[in-house]
Amino acid sequence: MDTKTDYISKKQFGPSAGVLYLIGTPIGNLGDFSPRAKHLLSNVSVIACEDTRYSGQLLKKFQIKANLISFHKHNNFEKIPKLLNLLKKGEIIALITDAGLPGISDPGEDLVKATIKAGHKVICIPGPCAATTALVASGLPTQRFCFEGFLPTKSKDRKSILNVISQEERTTIIYESPHKLIKLLEDLSHVCGEERPLQVARELTKIHEEQVGSTIGEVLKHFSENKPRGEFTLVLGGAYKEIEEKSVSELIKKINLLQTKGQSKSDAIKAIANETGCSKNFLYSLMHEKDDSYT
Ligand code: SAM
Repeated sequence: MDTKTDYISKKQFGPSAGVLYLIGTPIGNLGDFSPRAKHLLSNVSVIACEDTRYSGQLLKKFQIKANLISFHKHNNFEKIPKLLNLLKKGEIIALITDAGLPGISDPGEDLVKATIKAGHKVICIPGPCAATTALVASGLPTQRFCFEGFLPTKSKDRKSILNVISQEERTTIIYESPHKLIKLLEDLSHVCGEERPLQVARELTKIHEEQVGSTIGEVLKHFSENKPRGEFTLVLGGAYKEIEEKSVSELIKKINLLQTKGQSKSDAIKAIANETGCSKNFLYSLMHEKDDSYT
């Protein structure tokens, strides 16, 4: 290690006594494991992880020797007091998840809440997260978005969340496992309509990474023909609300602009549908009305 890096590692990399570090780990590609994350994991007293065998293999690949404690949704409430006791003694704890950022769709949130309440410091060492990685690559609006994680499986809870999602105007991010993907796509199609923009990120950061879009109907067709395999994050376009006269002319202007730049009418409409969340049919009807008004 050169002097500069050494300086950074001592002054900025930590770790410090009595702190809980939330450490991001790769969601597939091991090249995304940050030097700072590896440094901290090599220097903490204890690493709390969902699956000690799974995380043990990851750490072994990087020659990180550590004291692992299992911390998952079935034992988190019994483990929290033990971890708080260690922090009180000045031990340094790292929390990692099977993949990605701890605290996103795992029990990390409860430990963070309890740690802050007990007066200890919490520091996050950022790393990959499937939700934000899928969002920024989706081509859907990123200015305002919301995260639903896994939808409930209980029929009543699921129905009510699906109704909320169908009305949501912001882009919505959803996690789903491969064997439940088709059912989720059918449910979304039922409440949002098959024209609603949807981009599905499969196997992010891995060799077989792919994006499947661009509407619920198209994605459903694709995965009915190609069995879902791997990990999936769905990015759903927001609900389109009644738009005013001013917005109509804005939409037409946007489509015209793309056409003057050389795009075909259908490509321009597709792009604006993705950008705004308006359905392609609606945009076609706007363009037809506009064309008719000139004849
Ligand atoms: N903590 C993780 C994060 O920061 O993204 C999420 C954990 S959650 C238990 C696991 C879900 O995240 C998967 O079922 C899938 O929906 C999504 N996911 C994780 N890795 C992914 C990947 N490489 N590609 C697409 N989605 C992924």
